[in-house]
Amino acid sequence: MGVKAVNTVRHDPWQAALTQFEHAADLLSLKRGVREFLRHPKRELTVHFPVQLEDGSVEVFTGYRVHHSTVLGPTKGGIRYHPSVTLEEIRAFAMLMTWKCAVVGLPYGGAKGGVVCDPKLMSSTELEHLTRRYATEIGILIGPESDIPAPDMGTTPQVMAWIMDTYSMHHGYSVPAVVTGKPISIGGSAGRMEATGRGVAIVARETARHLGMQLAGARVAVQGFGNVGSTAAQTLRAEGCRIVAISDSRGGIHNDRGLDPDDVLQHKQQAGRVAGYPGADAVTNEQLLELPCDILVPAAVEAQITADNAPRIKARIVVEGANAPTLPEADAVLRERRIFVVPDILANAGGVIVSYFEWVQDLQSFFWSEEEINERLERIMVRSFREVLAVSQDKQVDLRTGALARAVGRVAEALVTRGIYP
Ligand code: NAD
Repeated sequence: MGVKAVNTVRHDPWQAALTQFEHAADLLSLKRGVREFLRHPKRELTVHFPVQLEDGSVEVFTGYRVHHSTVLGPTKGGIRYHPSVTLEEIRAFAMLMTWKCAVVGLPYGGAKGGVVCDPKLMSSTELEHLTRRYATEIGILIGPESDIPAPDMGTTPQVMAWIMDTYSMHHGYSVPAVVTGKPISIGGSAGRMEATGRGVAIVARETARHLGMQLAGARVAVQGFGNVGSTAAQTLRAEGCRIVAISDSRGGIHNDRGLDPDDVLQHKQQAGRVAGYPGADAVTNEQLLELPCDILVPAAVEAQITADNAPRIKARIVVEGANAPTLPEADAVLRERRIFVVPDILANAGGVIVSYFEWVQDLQSFFWSEEEINERLERIMVRSFREVLAVSQDKQVDLRTGALARAVGRVAEALVTRGIYP
């Protein structure tokens, strides 16, 4: 059954990010100096630091924080705790964050951070010590006006709370705006947890409308049933879609008559996995991607749609909930097959949009209702989708290139307007 969840294709995320950037730069005929500036990260910090573990031993960990661009404002980007974290991966995601913020019009540049560690093997006390020390090590970069981290793979609202507290202790007063994705009790925002999945559902709906596809009854397959995948499935079901397949890292389930995501979530909470859900067939993660469906939502990890499986994907629309789930070679295949791909920087921007709302609320110490948050999220997602669609139609390119062109164009314009210091 679906235990072999991981697509093991090796890929170079930095090279993939550069390839995508070069497409957009060519399309915009960017001048050499601007192009060179934007293909380099502004700064990269590597830190090695000791943490005392519960058994009394000391382990030295390696962490990173990369700022890709500060042209549009302070930098924004998640912190990842995972054994496979590398500087190249963090650099790639920092660049993608620059484009993600720019494509939806947020006044931020892109950043990303990470620590090479396995949070699943660490106690809560060890994680707290690691987090507080890492926050101190990158303290020369982060701040509410300079660089605002958020959760990513392996980090949680609690981790953000420890970073916020550590930073605040060093300053002698509380600075909630230094991180987003915090618990609501310390300045987090209503609707932040659900924001990315909601955004995915909004652009799926807009895409269906654009293609003249009925959303009611549309078959949806969702890979990854965490924060993004579960909310996307719930929201799309509420819009009338039929959720035909769902998976997590331990495998997936399929029922062409439709699954109830709330029920599946309850089953997952009890069984620890979606597999074994009664009344559904078992599928592997590889099989899920190739099932007959109308909308495919990869919402797990990167590099899932490859040159190998892209010819067998049957969906009409792919909405990238995850970051970089489609390799550049696969993109070309999907484009040829006229499968409509809503790229990550647009599709999953809901998270950073509501993170921006959280930061604004913290800076003003004035908080909005979930209704207000959702209305503003809806407005920005719909506007951004339409802008990107217009660029891609105008330049006759796919939506990914259109989104990148929109984003890179915005940053390049600001860069040229600011000029070169000194
Ligand atoms: P999560 O940890 O809550 O959920 C991830 C899900 O994917 C889990 O169900 C896990 O079991 C499953 N998974 C992990 N490895 C898998 C594999 N190899 N095959 C199939 N399933 C696998 O994470 P999340 O916050 O939902 O994030 C999912 C993706 O969306 C990531 O790529 C993340 O970078 C991206 N993203 C998240 C946010 C956000 O706000 N949470 C914002 C933007 C992008």
